[in-house]
Amino acid sequence: MPTHEVKADPPAIAPLTWPAVSTLTTSPFGPRLKVSDADRFDWHQGIDIGGTNGENIYSIADGTVDGVYTEGSPQYPDGGNVIRVRHYDDNADRYYSVYMHLKTMAVAKDDPVNAGDVIGTMGQSGDTTFDHLHFELRELTSCSLESQNGGGCPTSATGEDPHMNPIEHLFASDVIAPTVSVESF
Ligand SMILES: [Zn+2]
Repeated sequence: MPTHEVKADPPAIAPLTWPAVSTLTTSPFGPRLKVSDADRFDWHQGIDIGGTNGENIYSIADGTVDGVYTEGSPQYPDGGNVIRVRHYDDNADRYYSVYMHLKTMAVAKDDPVNAGDVIGTMGQSGDTTFDHLHFELRELTSCSLESQNGGGCPTSATGEDPHMNPIEHLFASDVIAPTVSVESF
């Protein structure tokens, strides 16, 4: 069984708002060379958007703030200041957007948000050396956030990697820069 299953049937999500002011994607979703870790390959669970310290970070869709985590939280030990927003796709299935390494956070748990609302600002909190947003999309499965939050996974769980490639769902007209750097994270 693969340890990183990529869903062959992505959920029906309408085009999403780009989550930052900057559009430079400095590290892609999926396998990557991690220079900061002795050139090892790892599986990047989101995308990195490099930008300016303090620039606005936006919710990518309507939803509800699912969690707000300050630097050093057990849920996201390397993520710094993290916001997670809960959404529903066109089939009413739940998914999450996750925003890491934030400088400031402008929302609280259970706040309703609309697409494009400012939820925080870009920074480099957590395990990173440059100003960027680490952005993830996660599909709810029987073994996802429950596991991450310490609840464990049922033995019958499938879909061990509930992450989705954000680029498949983000809408930014022609502004997504395809530039990719291996010197990220
Ligand atoms: Zn990242």
